[in-house]
Amino acid sequence: MAVAGETVRLDLDGRPIKPMTICMIGAGGFIGSHLCEELMFHTQHTVLAVDVYDDKIRHLLEPENGHPWSSRIQFHRLNIKHDSRLEGLIKISDLTINLAAICTPADYNTRPLDTIYSNFIDALPVVKYCVENDKRLIHFSTCEIYGKTIGWFLPKDHPLRKEPEYYMLKEDETPCIFGPIDKQRWSYACAKQLIERLIYAEGAENGLKFSIVRPFNWIGPRMDFIPGVDGPSEGVPRVLACFSNNLLRREKLKLVDGGESQRTFIYIKDAIEAVLRMIENPDRASGHIFNVGNPNNEVTVRQLAAMMTEIYAKVSGEPALDEPTVDVSSQEFYGEGYDDSDKRIPDMTIIKKQLEWEPKTSLFDLLETTLTYQHKTYAEAIKRATSKPSTTN
Ligand code: NAD
Ligand code: UDP
Repeated sequence: MAVAGETVRLDLDGRPIKPMTICMIGAGGFIGSHLCEELMFHTQHTVLAVDVYDDKIRHLLEPENGHPWSSRIQFHRLNIKHDSRLEGLIKISDLTINLAAICTPADYNTRPLDTIYSNFIDALPVVKYCVENDKRLIHFSTCEIYGKTIGWFLPKDHPLRKEPEYYMLKEDETPCIFGPIDKQRWSYACAKQLIERLIYAEGAENGLKFSIVRPFNWIGPRMDFIPGVDGPSEGVPRVLACFSNNLLRREKLKLVDGGESQRTFIYIKDAIEAVLRMIENPDRASGHIFNVGNPNNEVTVRQLAAMMTEIYAKVSGEPALDEPTVDVSSQEFYGEGYDDSDKRIPDMTIIKKQLEWEPKTSLFDLLETTLTYQHKTYAEAIKRATSKPSTTN
């Protein structure tokens, strides 16, 4: 594909791509910030960036820096829960991308109402305005929608657990298996499932042109926050930031319920390439639900902790602790109502066929890049904070 500056960018079928205006809701978050960068650095599209925060995209917004893209990105500070400006922004855009959500697991069981409102109710007007104004929608769902694997219900040593039909997650075949209602962890997955069903139904009954993205643990720089530095001290971000925080502070990494859960991690920049293909190839992307992950990067959380410990020692030059991890119960770490997905391997058939996309970056490489960034960004701030004399006796 051609890059910005060249006269013509071509889609996957060799047709010129016309510059479009994109209303990106949640543009100030982790994924949004990388997507804004990609669109500014490598395309001629315009972004109406909607969020309540702009910290992670401020480097793209400051006009005094004279960026060549400054006329192509506008920040709109608004909360989509209650702001009548949203419809106007969707109306003047060719495409809406909705990333806005509460999406940190520590919130699902402790703030289930906020989680459900954020992931279902607040997304309703976005879908409605897209339908009423005949606008395309790319909606961000989650891999968590699959819940637990079928194999998880078999005895631990059962041979069928090794058969792909018992664990591979396929968009058009795999059932969504959540725990009981009092396991409020599943409030997020359930709200995401309902908005997926609504979008799918709007597509079937009213012709909404949509794509649904199911991210499988996208990680990289700017993910979440480091507690006590750029987020609340008592906040619990996702695992990459939790472990980074522990490493930066020379604390033990906490393994929830033994760290046995398995995840596949994908580098944010690989994943962003997949989203760009959805944006620029509407005929191939519309009407589809896409798993976006890296099936080759599977580890248990315990293995992730070991890799991050080793890589952080390398990038920081500080030797690892003799005992770098400690086991904690999920009750202790997340509180009542937590539950977990056991294993998440994305089937890649649909995205390979429709968008000719595959992830590239190994887990080692993506952790090395990300931990180098974490060290450069936070190590000094943490040293300063921890060396301050205590004000209490
Ligand atoms: P994030 O929390 O970094 O970004 C979400 C952004 O949405 C934040 O900047 C937040 O301020 C904004 N937002 C939330 N509610 C809003 C509102 N009412 N009005 C305006 N802005 C609002 O999360 P992320 O990792 O970038 O995730 C983006 C999307 O992808 C979410 O829908 C999430 O559920 C989904 N997802 C991400 C991952 C992943 O691996 N990162 C995995 C599964 C699903
Ligand atoms: N986890 C952990 N220690 C931490 C943070 C998370 O063991 O400090 C585990 C968590 O229980 C889950 C996995 O890491 O099994 C991934 O958690 P994350 O918050 O990144 O999100 P998830 O993949 O569950 O959506």
